[in-house]
Amino acid sequence: MPGFELFGEAEKKQVEDVLESSVLMRYGFDGMRNGHWKAQELENKICNRFKTKHAHVVSSGTAALTVALASAGVGAGDEVIMPTFTFVASFESILALGTVPILVDVDDTLTLNPEAVEKAITDKTKVVMPVHMCGSMADLDALQAICKKHGLLLLEDACQAIGGSYKGKPLGSIGDLGCFSFDYVKTITCGEGGALITDNKTFYENAHKYADHGHDHIGNDRGAEAHPFLGYNFRISELNAAVGCAQIERLDEFLSIQKKQYSILRKALSNISEISFRKVPEGGVENYSFLNFFLPTENDARKAHKALSDGGVDGCFYWYDNNWHYYRKWEHLIDQKSLGKLPEEVQNGLQDFSKTDFSLSDHWVGRNISCLIKLGWSKDEVNERAKRMVEVLSSLRV
Ligand SMILES: *Cc1c(COP(=O)(O)O)cnc(C)c1O
Repeated sequence: MPGFELFGEAEKKQVEDVLESSVLMRYGFDGMRNGHWKAQELENKICNRFKTKHAHVVSSGTAALTVALASAGVGAGDEVIMPTFTFVASFESILALGTVPILVDVDDTLTLNPEAVEKAITDKTKVVMPVHMCGSMADLDALQAICKKHGLLLLEDACQAIGGSYKGKPLGSIGDLGCFSFDYVKTITCGEGGALITDNKTFYENAHKYADHGHDHIGNDRGAEAHPFLGYNFRISELNAAVGCAQIERLDEFLSIQKKQYSILRKALSNISEISFRKVPEGGVENYSFLNFFLPTENDARKAHKALSDGGVDGCFYWYDNNWHYYRKWEHLIDQKSLGKLPEEVQNGLQDFSKTDFSLSDHWVGRNISCLIKLGWSKDEVNERAKRMVEVLSSLRV
C-alpha cells in the first residue's frame, strides 16, 4: 500500500518548486509564489481523478473526517454510525465535535453490515460512516438506500481504499462526502495530509472556511476577511501538498502494481480449501492494498498468523487482537479515558459496552488475516512469498 516506497524525483521536483519560492502556506503571498499553488493544484487533480465537483485538502485524514462532519452541520449530541473494525481516527474525528460515535457490526465484507446499521438508527442519528477497510468497500447501494429512507448523510471513509471503485464510481465519490488520508503509510502520501470530496457546494464552502479559522476566503486581504462562523486550523502546508501533487499522478501506476502482486498471492492461496476470501460487494473493484482471507476458526486464524510471522512472511495482520483497529482493545473509548471532561452529550450518549453484542463482528474479524501488499516487491520476491504462504498455511492442516 505505501506510496513512500516509491518516493522519487517527481516528488523532489514538486517540493523544490515550493522551496524556491519559500511560500510554505496555501493562502496569500501571491507575488512571491512563482505561480505555485500546490494545495489548489492537488485539489484540482483530486477533482479530476475522483470525478467530483469539489475537493478540499487538509492536514490529515482524521482532520478531513472532522471537517467533513462539521461542514454538514453535525455537532454536539448528534450520532454517527461507524464500524467496530476501523482505525481509531473514526471515533476521534466524531468526538472532536462533541458528536457521539455509535459502533455497529461488520460482516464478511469487513465493513458496515447494512442490517446492523438500520437497527442502530435513532432520532439523533445524522450520518452513516462506512469505512472501506483494507482496500475494499461496504455495500454502498444498501447503505445509500438506508440513508435515503431515514434522511441521513452517507460519509465514506476511503482512507484505506483510495482508487477502488463501486459500480464504476470512485470510492469516496458515492456518498454525500468522502475522505482520504495521505499519511505516510497510505497508498499515496503527502507525508501528512488528507482530503474531503463532495458534489455539495454548501458542504464544500463550509469545509474550506471551517478548516481555516472560519476565513471566508473572499478577496485577497486575509486580515480583512470575514468569519461567518467558528472554525479551526486544519490547513495543510504547501510542502506536504507538493508531495501529494506528484504522488496522485502515480496512483494508477501504484494500483496496477498492487493488483499484480495481490493477484499472484491470491491465486496461490486459492488452492487451499480451508481459506475463504473477504467478500467484495457486487460491482466493487478493490484497490488491492491488502489481501484479506478467513480461516475456519479464531484459533486457526491465530495459529496461521503466528506461523506466517515465524515463517518469515512479514506484513500480515490479525486485527482481532490489534490495539488500534478493533473495538475490543479500545478501552480508552469504552472507559471514557479523556484528559479533560468529555461533553455531557458524549458521556451520556456512548454505548454501554458491557451490554453491546458484536458477535457478528467477532465471527468475521476473529477469523480474518490481512496481508499488506507492497509496491516494492520484485517478481521473484512475490513468487517466493506466495510459495512460502502456501507452505505455511498448508502445513497447519486446519
Ligand atoms: C489512516 C486512516 C485515517 C486517518 O488518517 P490520518 O491521515 O492518519 O489522520 C482514517 N481512517 C482510516 C480508515 C485510516 O486508515
